[in-house]
Amino acid sequence: MGEKEYVIGVDVGGTWTRAVLLNVKSNSVEKIKEKVDARYDTTISRQIIKIIHTLCQKNGIDSSHLEGVGIASAGPIDVKEGALIRPTNFPFEYVSLVQPIKKKLNVPVYLVNDCTAAVLGEKEFGGGKGISNLFYVAIGTGIGGGAIVDDHLLMGKDGNAVEIGHFTIDYKGELLCGCGRRGHWEAYCSGRNIPQFVKFRMRKMGKNTIESSLIFGKIGGNISRLSSEILFEAAKNGDPLSLQFIEEIGVLNAIGFANVVNAYDPSVILVGGTVALKNAEFVLPHIKKYITDYALNRIPEINITPLGDDVGIYGGAAAVLRFANHPR
Ligand SMILES: [Zn+2]
Repeated sequence: MGEKEYVIGVDVGGTWTRAVLLNVKSNSVEKIKEKVDARYDTTISRQIIKIIHTLCQKNGIDSSHLEGVGIASAGPIDVKEGALIRPTNFPFEYVSLVQPIKKKLNVPVYLVNDCTAAVLGEKEFGGGKGISNLFYVAIGTGIGGGAIVDDHLLMGKDGNAVEIGHFTIDYKGELLCGCGRRGHWEAYCSGRNIPQFVKFRMRKMGKNTIESSLIFGKIGGNISRLSSEILFEAAKNGDPLSLQFIEEIGVLNAIGFANVVNAYDPSVILVGGTVALKNAEFVLPHIKKYITDYALNRIPEINITPLGDDVGIYGGAAAVLRFANHPR
């Protein structure tokens, strides 16, 4: 870290652009959250610049007071180009983020995969302080991971080292993943794909079991209205069928987590993402129960992230602190 007191962390999601201005010395923060402006490939970076200007203005500083800007975004990313490459969240081939922001603000700008940022955020500000072997799992719209192994941040050749959502957990490949391959973890257990898992399971069940369930009532018998929110809502109301699906999803999550434990051997796994944050009591216990059936390595602590929805912005800020100290 240099002499400058302020860092900016930005989180570009499919729906929201969030940002934080962090004063490293006083630990004071100022946050902004706006609907992401993805009308064109260029409006995303323009919006970030506008938000940074607003954050600076509110605190009576300008960009010369910034150590840097760290941007967390869902991949695939190209770290060297500082761009998103055919991103899953936006309908563009290529979204340049680092160059336009650097040009406008004249400060160092870093782009990292959102879950890579998250694990940095946990280590610096969250549930992973002082922990050398730390893992972050997001169970949200998709599934992603970030890893710190022996205090070393795993990045990979393009910055996509820990794409755990695309671990194969079903060799039969019953369900199709958004990436175009079959049998991937995310195709069964992510917020976007839980409905396809439930439909797949329902096809193998008797009509009476399905039609007498609360979840069937909640969607008015129209299977296309199914969402992960409705599944968890029905489970919260005690629907046995929904609870069964959630347990089956829990087993698949446990396989994914066991693969993580076997590959990275973390001491602590922190879990975020909307599906996990909103339904922790239905998600974590099954993972903890079934992981022992699949993991060889000693089971780590598994906790919900204390940073909640803010893990991305804190991750962006932590990326600046880390890369300003260890330039790539
Ligand atoms: Zn996939």
